[in-house]
Amino acid sequence: MSLLTVGTVAFDTLYTPHGDAEMVVGGSSQYSSYAASYFTDDINLVSIIGDDFPQSELDDLQSRGVSLDGLKTVAGGKSFFWAGRYLDNMNDRVTITTDLNVLADFDPVLPDSYKQSKYILLGNLTPDIQISVINQLTEKPKLVVLDTMNFWIDNTYDKLIEAIKLCDVLTINDEEARMLSGEHSLVLAAAKIFELGPKYLIIKKGEHGCLLFDRNSVFFAPALPLEKVVDPTGAGDCFAGGFLGYIAKTEDTSFENMKRAIIYGSALASFVVEDFSNYRVKSLTEQEIKDRVQQFVDLTHFQL
Ligand code: AMP
Repeated sequence: MSLLTVGTVAFDTLYTPHGDAEMVVGGSSQYSSYAASYFTDDINLVSIIGDDFPQSELDDLQSRGVSLDGLKTVAGGKSFFWAGRYLDNMNDRVTITTDLNVLADFDPVLPDSYKQSKYILLGNLTPDIQISVINQLTEKPKLVVLDTMNFWIDNTYDKLIEAIKLCDVLTINDEEARMLSGEHSLVLAAAKIFELGPKYLIIKKGEHGCLLFDRNSVFFAPALPLEKVVDPTGAGDCFAGGFLGYIAKTEDTSFENMKRAIIYGSALASFVVEDFSNYRVKSLTEQEIKDRVQQFVDLTHFQL
């Protein structure tokens, strides 16, 4: 079933305690598309780039079933650029630069072939664009997932609240949940966030896993303890892409199936952090994903 993902396709510069990478390929919809492509080959990407973006990267996305009909290229323009530095714990990061570049004036026009997409991932980018994408759909989608980050909470709060009203599942990290709700306890934060509209909430806690809430219950998925974390960038996006990709594949939006989906999302996130940029998440095998999901099962399985 068709999955539409809107977000950034970008260049990143990353500083980590163990090494740096300059001007590597990144962007929220780039990462989520790769993650989702392990579950469906019917992916509609919506984004914008300048003509500085490598054609070989676009060819790689297309070869994985990602339609680029909704990817606008601006002649003479520069792609979105983000630079960040990870702290010693390799979990927390500070943004050094966010250059919106071509994203600043992006007003997406959905190709007709995208307008009946069933599973929508409103990836991390300006809430105006997230809202515009939803308004252009001609059929009610089965599930809308919205991902965002502190940058948009700080800079476009009112629009973000409007966008959140339109989603079924909100995914944010723990600090952002606290910022958005004004509550320190994540349980109280969840209750406040539900008042904004979503039916489900996923709170990501980096290397400590994530929590899936509906109004009555909560489920916890751990993150895999990894020997090697090279670069956490894209973990949230691969999580969201893997989560929604699994739901699109199984066509089941129940809370029980979302529990499985967050394990698949967590598995995809655990791969991307093993190397810079998309190097690892581009070339996984089905068996590697299966084995990793089994590691999650083993990690939490116990008998009473
Ligand atoms: P994640 O680590 O999953 O939060 O995603 C990091 C990716 O998001 C990077 O590849 C960046 O290019 C992109 N990114 C960083 N800041 C923003 C922003 N404010 N809006 C959209 N995408 C962003």
